[in-house]
Amino acid sequence: MKHVFGPVPSRRLGNSLGVDLLAFKACAFDCIYCQLGRTTEQTAERRRFVPPGDVVAEVRQVLDSGVAVDYVTLSGSGEPTLSLDLGRVIHAIKAFSRVPVAVLTNGALLGRPDVRADLAEADLVVPSLDAATQEAFERVNRPCGGLSVADVARGLRDFTLGFTGQVWLEVMVVAGVNDTPDEARAIVRALEGARIDKVQLNTVVRAPAESWAEPVREERLKELAALLEGLAPVEIIGRYAQREHPAPAADARERILATLARRPCGAAELANSLGLHPALVAKLLEELCREARLERVLVGGAAQYRIPPH
Ligand code: SF4
Repeated sequence: MKHVFGPVPSRRLGNSLGVDLLAFKACAFDCIYCQLGRTTEQTAERRRFVPPGDVVAEVRQVLDSGVAVDYVTLSGSGEPTLSLDLGRVIHAIKAFSRVPVAVLTNGALLGRPDVRADLAEADLVVPSLDAATQEAFERVNRPCGGLSVADVARGLRDFTLGFTGQVWLEVMVVAGVNDTPDEARAIVRALEGARIDKVQLNTVVRAPAESWAEPVREERLKELAALLEGLAPVEIIGRYAQREHPAPAADARERILATLARRPCGAAELANSLGLHPALVAKLLEELCREARLERVLVGGAAQYRIPPH
């Protein structure tokens, strides 16, 4: 599988089958908290990255295997709305599957009519807006030149008014960067009139692109959540729910490396998502760290593993 990963237990989406329409790592942003590391192709230009037929065939193969999947989630190695095949792939998946399709997006291109048309058949869109003042936007998201947060917020709001599926807004806050009550109030003002079903307030829980991007403390998260209630009910993202699903035990090393190539995670999460015995995962992680194919990092005091940056 080159374009599909998981299903992995997602804190937001249950058992999520990840679909990657991109080449690593294309995005208009270079967020300081990005769990994929720093952006290597910073662009706001849409194009084809991978053959869409191959992606759809892989999704079909996994779903046909009967594995438990709550969402087919377009996310992957960057920003999925950069792919010109987004709408085509969603349409093809909907033609053979009833599993809901979710798209995680940074929202930068939601003002474009072609992107809105591509998202029309999705069941759920999860756009982000981490800041509404240009200064905080540039600090936390480090957008490519010329992107204005006022335009991004306007595009996001207008998108929600024309889209018929669910919209869950994600707000990711980083300690000392975009975690002030004034910033939360600015987000509420910028999105006034938007149709948002819920807000998910998140902080740094996976190894971030910048080691100095720190999680926000719980008391501050609660304070910000109370302000963001002005948009929709707010959920502070907690531990993901676990569910049993079958997974083969073969090729454990390669499957661990493939999962960690997408995003860093901890040993227990790896064991759950890959259906492997925790002791086996611990042993393989130790081996891979010794061989320098993985590195161990501490995030909020908890160990996570990732592919070392080159
Ligand atoms: S977190 Fe999302 S929007 Fe930010 S750099 Fe990473 S892929 Fe892009």
